[in-house]
Amino acid sequence: MADTFELGPFRPPSEAFSLLLRTTRNCPWNRCRFCGMYKGQKFELRSVEEIERDIEAVKRIYDRILAFAWRSGYGGRLQDAARAVLAKPPDQYHYNVALWLYGGGQNVFLQDANSLIMRTHELTEVLRFLKETLPQVTRITSYGRSKTAAKKTLEELTEIGEAGLSRLHIGLESGSDTVLKLMDKGVTAADHIAGGRNVVESGISLSEYVLLGLGGRGLWREHAVETGRVLSEINPGFIRIRTLSVSPMLPMYAGVEDGSYVIENDEEMVEELKLLIESLDCDSNFVSDHINNLLQEVEGKLPGDKQKMLATIERFQALPAAERLNFRIGRRARIYTQLDELNDTRKHGVVEQIIQKLTEGDHDGDEYAVDRLLEGYFVPL
Ligand code: SF4
Repeated sequence: MADTFELGPFRPPSEAFSLLLRTTRNCPWNRCRFCGMYKGQKFELRSVEEIERDIEAVKRIYDRILAFAWRSGYGGRLQDAARAVLAKPPDQYHYNVALWLYGGGQNVFLQDANSLIMRTHELTEVLRFLKETLPQVTRITSYGRSKTAAKKTLEELTEIGEAGLSRLHIGLESGSDTVLKLMDKGVTAADHIAGGRNVVESGISLSEYVLLGLGGRGLWREHAVETGRVLSEINPGFIRIRTLSVSPMLPMYAGVEDGSYVIENDEEMVEELKLLIESLDCDSNFVSDHINNLLQEVEGKLPGDKQKMLATIERFQALPAAERLNFRIGRRARIYTQLDELNDTRKHGVVEQIIQKLTEGDHDGDEYAVDRLLEGYFVPL
């Protein structure tokens, strides 16, 4: 029997140490104009038998690593044995299982874009089989779409939660119907609210992802206010911030080229972030867990940390223009992680040298040119 199992291409950053288990292939919608994740790939459901065969293959690899731990003197120190396997993994399957064990061996992420679209009885069968085969698993998470979550009954979602699904990651992106339509997201604000509330009510933890900048210069205000309103109605456990990055490969790039869509710069997105936070009236954890976000330190538990988060934004906005530029470029060049590092003279000096190079020649002192240069040099991540 082959010790291989199917691996999908994506997982959220918070699932870096989760076991990856593919329950469906690609995205059943696949039309969002800002997303290139599964473009050109056909959506497919996987059969329960196929998925269960994969779980059995994971179990065999797990047993092999366990045996290796005893044989090699690691005894019950499975994490140490996993680290040794990671140093020289025989293949990607052993690598994935070893990484999972190294991270504690308790979390599983179901790939790809919308596992919730599986028939409820098939998804619950997979979840139960997974927990029976790997009883140490305590947290199972997956991506899902609001529309699918809205179509499932509360009883179905409760059953899925009881079978073991602990958390859903949903791409809300925007709460504005105008932006959702423009980006062909395939859902309305009302779908987001219905689906999100259904998930929260079922007891499954919910992470909603917001795409900062998605409204562009034309719709940024509506995007921020409506997203705040929709999230407040859902009250998810987690709100996770992402920043729009537009590559020429994306369908929405056509709008950038013909001038109908204007990308916001970092400073405009900071103002948008501020308006979004001001518009939130919920108890969620506000998380900025992506390196693309300019002010990653703007995080906290709502509503208590709201003023603290706004104060950080205002601190950035109150900096002299040259310092704001230094920070923006330092973030893009991966030199800074937070505002306090502007006081690090060595880092500050390195960033100044980069700025000098960027503003040489035709672009001298031109903020617009610097924004374009920033996009060209650092934005596509
Ligand atoms: S639903 Fe998600 S994965 Fe599918 S195209 Fe839209 S953003 Fe991409």
